Amino acid sequence: MKLARVTKKGNRSFYIEFLMMTLVPLIVCGIVMIMVCSNSVRNGMTVEAEEDLKNVALAVRMAFDEAYPGEFKAVAENGGIALYKGETLISDKYDLIDGIEQKSRLEISIFSMDTRMLTTLKDKSGTRLTDISMETRVASDRIVQDVYHDHKSMFYDNVSIDGVEYYAYYEPVMSDDGSTCLGMIGVAKPATELKSRINSSVNRNIIVMLLAILITSFFILRFANSLVTVVKHMLDFMKNLADNKLDSKLNPSVVQREDELGEMGRNLNSLQIALRRLIERDVLTGLFNRRSAEKKIDAIEDSGVRYCVAIGDIDHFKKFNDTFGHECGDVVLREVAHLLNDGMNKREGFVARWGGEEFLLVFVNAGIDEAYDGLMLIRQALHDKEVEYDGHIHKVTMTFGAAEKTDGVAINHLIRAADDKLYEGKQGGRDRVII
Ligand code: GH3
Ligand code: MG
Ligand code: MG
Repeated sequence: MKLARVTKKGNRSFYIEFLMMTLVPLIVCGIVMIMVCSNSVRNGMTVEAEEDLKNVALAVRMAFDEAYPGEFKAVAENGGIALYKGETLISDKYDLIDGIEQKSRLEISIFSMDTRMLTTLKDKSGTRLTDISMETRVASDRIVQDVYHDHKSMFYDNVSIDGVEYYAYYEPVMSDDGSTCLGMIGVAKPATELKSRINSSVNRNIIVMLLAILITSFFILRFANSLVTVVKHMLDFMKNLADNKLDSKLNPSVVQREDELGEMGRNLNSLQIALRRLIERDVLTGLFNRRSAEKKIDAIEDSGVRYCVAIGDIDHFKKFNDTFGHECGDVVLREVAHLLNDGMNKREGFVARWGGEEFLLVFVNAGIDEAYDGLMLIRQALHDKEVEYDGHIHKVTMTFGAAEKTDGVAINHLIRAADDKLYEGKQGGRDRVII
């Protein structure tokens, strides 16, 4: 019996599919998480910066109101412009904003309308970036529009002042009656410092995420490899079985596993045993069948050892069938098989069901005299045996013919010779061994 070998249906590999289903989602999720985390870090730190700037702008406003009561106003004076708060000229009063700048480490500017009048911002040469001469130190158009014209408090994360990038918060300074915007209070923080803090925090997140992805990928790959190895072992084993290599062994690493794959492996081994039994054994008696007996003799022949073959036939077997029914015949066959097997168990060789109620016995490493002795013992045991069926005791005897393998004699001739001796035994009165 040869099993049909089933080949793979397509080019798909379990390994690649497993990786596609695990690594790809992991990497995609990782990238999305990196992006989301980076964004929330960036937003969080920017909101924090905005809060700082806003609080300092409020503090500036309160400090000025407390120190110099009254409204801000710009007055043209001596070809330039002077900033007043109430009745006090504050164009040169830097103590207040410098003090706040030192404490908060934020740059503070006071604008009259759109023009920076008082500031802690300095250029590279250390000159304050004010414009009391009304030249060019005005806020950018969008700030003027948002804050000065639209009266909105605004936060910007990309304000360029004198070529430097700042995060800046602007608050409109309204007249006491709230109808006109007199100017603005601006608080700024250099973007480079915050950006580098954001970047290092984002980078840290990316490194942690990548490490997590790498470690998870490592375990996924390890798991996938171990799965694939087991699947390959099982596949090889099944291919061998399909190719009739029933002696092949499943890799022990599979059956040693304590998981479902190990269970599959153990079931495969049981299947192999069942399959071998089905293919090699006779169903009724459990003895080797004729086909496997022939293979076994071939193997013995190839090994070059001495051996003898014997054919045993149950005497008057037909009567069991005819008198007591086919089932009774089966019981006798099983009992005889059991006894023959017991008899051969003690010696080198084997017994097989040759066909019907005939059995083949092979004595390995034995000459004809030893085979004869063995057969005589078996014959006697049979002779003494009582088979019980349906409340009746039946006596069974068997006749054996045996021949020794000699050089140049083919196996079928050897068996024919044993058969001839068996015939002789039947003719001579049965229940005997003829060599
Ligand atoms: P002899 O002493 O000359 O050998 O007589 P015999 O009756 O044993 O010989 P014969 O060859 O005439 O009968 C063999 C019978 O065995 C015929 C067949 O129906 C029966 N038989 C063959 N296989 C089986 C089987 O598996 N079960 C049963 N119950 N009977 C079987
Ligand atoms: Mg017979
Ligand atoms: Mg017969």
